Amino acid sequence: QGTLGILGGGQLAQMLALAALPLGVKVVVLEPDPQAPARLCAEHLQAPYTDPAGLDRLAGCDVVTLEFENVPVEALAALEGRVPVRPGGALLARSKHRAREKEALQTAGAATAPFVSIEHEADLTGALSAVGGRGLLKTSELGYDGKGQARVNSDAELRAAWDALGRAPCVLEGLVPFEREVSLAVARNAAGELAFGPLIENTHRQGILRTSVFPAAAPAGTEARAREVARAVAEGWGLEGLLTLEFFQLPDGTLLVNEVAPRVHNSGHLTQDGGGISQFEAQVRAVLGLPLRDWAPLHPAAMVNIIGTADGREPDWAGIDALPGTRLHLYHKAPRPGRKLGHVNLVAPDLETLRARLDGLEALIP
Ligand code: ATP
Ligand code: MG
Ligand code: MG
Repeated sequence: QGTLGILGGGQLAQMLALAALPLGVKVVVLEPDPQAPARLCAEHLQAPYTDPAGLDRLAGCDVVTLEFENVPVEALAALEGRVPVRPGGALLARSKHRAREKEALQTAGAATAPFVSIEHEADLTGALSAVGGRGLLKTSELGYDGKGQARVNSDAELRAAWDALGRAPCVLEGLVPFEREVSLAVARNAAGELAFGPLIENTHRQGILRTSVFPAAAPAGTEARAREVARAVAEGWGLEGLLTLEFFQLPDGTLLVNEVAPRVHNSGHLTQDGGGISQFEAQVRAVLGLPLRDWAPLHPAAMVNIIGTADGREPDWAGIDALPGTRLHLYHKAPRPGRKLGHVNLVAPDLETLRARLDGLEALIP
């Protein structure tokens, strides 16, 4: 019971609020966008993240959490000492900057793709060969859904890509020949107790998550190893709250951490309809100090994102509705090409049925 403040008012805040309400917890979001998805199910403070009156209101909540990395660290700093902020500013500062994040992951003992931090022109020299000759150049800050990234296969392409990204601080990563992508979330409360989400398998299209499936079709032992990495990062970074790790799995089974998000994650949306507690409830519980336990769907489950199309084509809504095991989640956002507008969760009694239904569902969502 109590009031939860959230920095950010997007769809993740919307779904956090929907999970908090039945626990007796009200939500207040600080979010400048007047059309923010969370406005409809939470008290919406429509102001910049650093607005003093907005921050005063959040400081009056029982605890503050976040749903978005790109809030200024200063907003958290202004709250710390007045209200518990979970995760705190130090963790946010790491995870919102790719180069710092990768260094901090390695310090915690997590393996990553080879990378070189690019801040000055001189950093370009020898960088591509240092990461294996083929790579992805990514801006260190503000990138999501594959935005602010370029594939590079030669030194000339690397230079051109860095120019095209405005010579912003970047990370050059080696191209990882992964077998699959998986993700796993960990929650840790202020007492240091841990709980884990399920191992989920993800497929991306044009840098944007398209589908997530539980259970992941990964070799035996993968989940246990992913949990160990998650534990090392959560403990090494002093996490309070929930953190999701995205992994590449190599053909030999090795897990490399691609990136982390200090919050619930798109790949975990399928936990909303699997019959267990959802990732959203897990984050609410972790930050408020409510009892924590591992969370996972009780049955095979999948998710397909609904993403705005260039030609405005819409999903076959009636078809989705008619497919057994589906549930629709919309974010009340104006459609734009490449924008995440909602998702469909899907459950089935067994994996074979899930796969068949997922093929059917994907065909209905352009
Ligand atoms: P989001 O935050 O929405 O997950 P992002 O913009 O931060 O996306 P990444 O997660 O870094 O982007 O990359 C998006 C996708 O691009 C990855 O999930 C993966 O499919 C592919 N990708 C990224 N980095 C690499 C790499 N080093 N090697 C191979 N594929 C990669
Ligand atoms: Mg990212
Ligand atoms: Mg990612």
